[in-house]
Amino acid sequence: MKASAFSYARATSVGNALELLAAYGDGAKVLSGGQSLMPAMNLRLISPELLVDIGDLGELRGVELVGGMLRIGALTRHVELLNSPEIAKHAPLLSEAIAHVAHPAIRNKGTLGGSLAHADPASELPACMLALSTAIVVRGQTGERRIAAKDFFTGIYQTALAADELLVAVELPVAQKDSVHFFHEFARRHGDYAIIGFAAQAIVRGGMFADLRIALFAVGDRPVLADVTARLTGVAITPALLSDAAAALAEELDPQEDQQASVAMRRHLAKVLLVRGVSALLDRPELSGVLA
Ligand SMILES: Cc1cc2nc3c(=O)[nH]c(=O)nc-3n(C[C@H](O)[C@H](O)[C@H](O)COP(=O)(O)OP(=O)(O)OC[C@H]3O[C@@H](n4cnc5c(N)ncnc54)[C@H](O)[C@@H]3O)c2cc1C
Repeated sequence: MKASAFSYARATSVGNALELLAAYGDGAKVLSGGQSLMPAMNLRLISPELLVDIGDLGELRGVELVGGMLRIGALTRHVELLNSPEIAKHAPLLSEAIAHVAHPAIRNKGTLGGSLAHADPASELPACMLALSTAIVVRGQTGERRIAAKDFFTGIYQTALAADELLVAVELPVAQKDSVHFFHEFARRHGDYAIIGFAAQAIVRGGMFADLRIALFAVGDRPVLADVTARLTGVAITPALLSDAAAALAEELDPQEDQQASVAMRRHLAKVLLVRGVSALLDRPELSGVLA
């Protein structure tokens, strides 16, 4: 199938893009890498009146360190995230996760902003934003606002972005000296959307979690920040405690059944991921057998 007829404008500046979005409202769609938008248009799932191509807006691309925060422009492509030494050093969770996003041809075109604005609940990068305590920076004609990642994703393919706003960047705290991370997803083939995935960022001191943030994806209509981390922080982790925490995580989640997995399967895999994640983050391989 082919897309319905639409008009096309190549934005010359962020201000110009915002003017076009304001003029067309819900009738306009931002075009970044096109890797999700174009298939959706070709399948006629959406039929925008106008595409606002932001591909020329170089100011929205790149990675910079600003006062202890990493600022990543919305137009930064997946491949650039994958190859960035700044990201490898200051946000290694992201470097690891991005290798699981689709395939090289898609990573060459797809952008961070597109992935976040698209808000697929099975997507890797939105979950990483939660685990990394990221602020999503959006701009409208009246100015900029910062939205905590946990408040940005509001439902399946839904975000807190208004139709006349542009996602311009994300800002995340750089990894500290004692920071550790863990990323894992179950997928049928490498590069497929996940059956379930797990992204964790922690600070470990004296063998205990001083801070722990775990985000799961493909477990509902949006990425989820796990509450169970409260049970695991500031205490010595025993096999019994971890086993109880795994059971609590399975209860906490409200996954859906689809062609990839049943609800019970997703709950079970979440427990497996928690046990593997905690064991790896604390470097305690003996904990990995607690579900056996
Ligand atoms: C075969 C295939 C496999 C894939 N596998 C995965 C996968 O495993 N994991 C995964 O996460 N993704 C996967 N993707 C999606 C891919 O990562 C896309 O690149 C990404 O979802 C969207 O990025 P984009 O730059 O291409 O956005 P586009 O397709 O250009 O836009 C996507 C949506 O975001 C909006 N948008 C884009 N940029 C902005 C902005 N700056 N401000 C406001 N709104 C904006 C658009 O209007 C549109 O609604 C896959 C895609 C394909 C085709």
